[in-house]
Amino acid sequence: MSDTIDVTRLTLMLNELRLPAIKQMWEKIAARCDKEGWPAARLLATLAEHELAERDRRRLERHLGDAKLLPGKTLATYDFEAVPMVSKAQVMALCAGDAWLEQGANLILLGPPGGGKSHLSSAIGLALLEKGWRVLFSRTSDLVQKLQVARRELALESAIQRLERFDLLILDDITYVSKDQAESSVLFELISARYERRSMLITANQPFGEWGKIFPDAAMTLAAVDRLVHHATIFEMNVESYRRRAAIERKHGAGRPAHYATPKNTGVAPPPDNPHRGVKPEEPVSAQENRQ
Ligand code: ADP
Ligand code: MG
Repeated sequence: MSDTIDVTRLTLMLNELRLPAIKQMWEKIAARCDKEGWPAARLLATLAEHELAERDRRRLERHLGDAKLLPGKTLATYDFEAVPMVSKAQVMALCAGDAWLEQGANLILLGPPGGGKSHLSSAIGLALLEKGWRVLFSRTSDLVQKLQVARRELALESAIQRLERFDLLILDDITYVSKDQAESSVLFELISARYERRSMLITANQPFGEWGKIFPDAAMTLAAVDRLVHHATIFEMNVESYRRRAAIERKHGAGRPAHYATPKNTGVAPPPDNPHRGVKPEEPVSAQENRQ
C-alpha cells in the first residue's frame, strides 16, 4: 500500500461511516503517531477511543436537552442539612439508579412550597442522566395539557408510548393540575401505563388525602395513589420536621447530625469524618447550624 492517501476520499469515507470525531482528529493524531513512532494498533485504538468519547458526550448533551431539567439545580448545590428528614445517603443510593429504575419503582416528594422538592427532583434527574438514564422533567399541568391535546387528536396512546423512552418521568407539582384538567383521566392513564414498568418521580404540595381534585372521581384517585405508592420511596419534606431537627439537636446536644437521628434513618451509619463530632453539648443550636 502506498504511503500517501487520498485525503478527500478518506473524509468522504469517514462521513459515510459516521465517524465525525475521527474525521476531525485523525490528521493531528496521525502526525503525532508518525513523529513518535507509535505502533499502528495504538493509532487505531486512540482514534476509536476518541470517537467513542465524543459519541458519549454528544449523547449526554442530547439527553440533557430532552430532559428539560431546572437549570442550576444540582445535588452539589442542595443543602441536605436544611431537610433533615431526607437522608443524603439514601438520595445518593437512589442516584446510583440501577435497581429502582429497572423495576419501575417510584419516588414521591411531599411537602409545603419552598421545601426544595423541585430542586431535589431535578438534581436527582441530573445525577441519573449523567449515569446514562433517560429523564424528563415536566410540570405536571404542562404534561397533562399535552396529553389532553393528544387525546383530542385520538393519539393519547402514542403520546404515552413516546414517554416510554424515559426511564424516569419527573412530574413536578402534581396537585397543581387544574380542575378542568382533572375531568379528563389522561394522568390516570399515564400512571397506569407506567405502573411497575417505568419509574416516576412525583412532587406534591399536598398529602395524598388531598389528591381528590387531581382525578375525576374518588375511585380513580384511590387507584392512582395505590399504583404510585405500591413500589415507592416517599420523602416527606415538611418544615415541621425542620423544627423537630432543632429540638432533637437541643435534646441530644452534640455528636449526632439530625438526619441520622431521625427514626427513619437509624440504620444508616454516620460518615467517618463526621463534622459534628466534638461539638460541645452546651453549644447553642444556631452555632452548630452555622458550621454545617
Ligand atoms: P418546592 O419545589 O418544594 O416548592 P423549590 O425546590 O422550588 O421548592 O425550592 C425553592 C428555592 O429554594 C429554589 O430556588 C431552591 O433551589 C431553593 N432550595 C430549597 N431547598 C433547598 C436546599 N435544601 N438546598 C439548596 N437550595 C434549596
Ligand atoms: Mg416546586
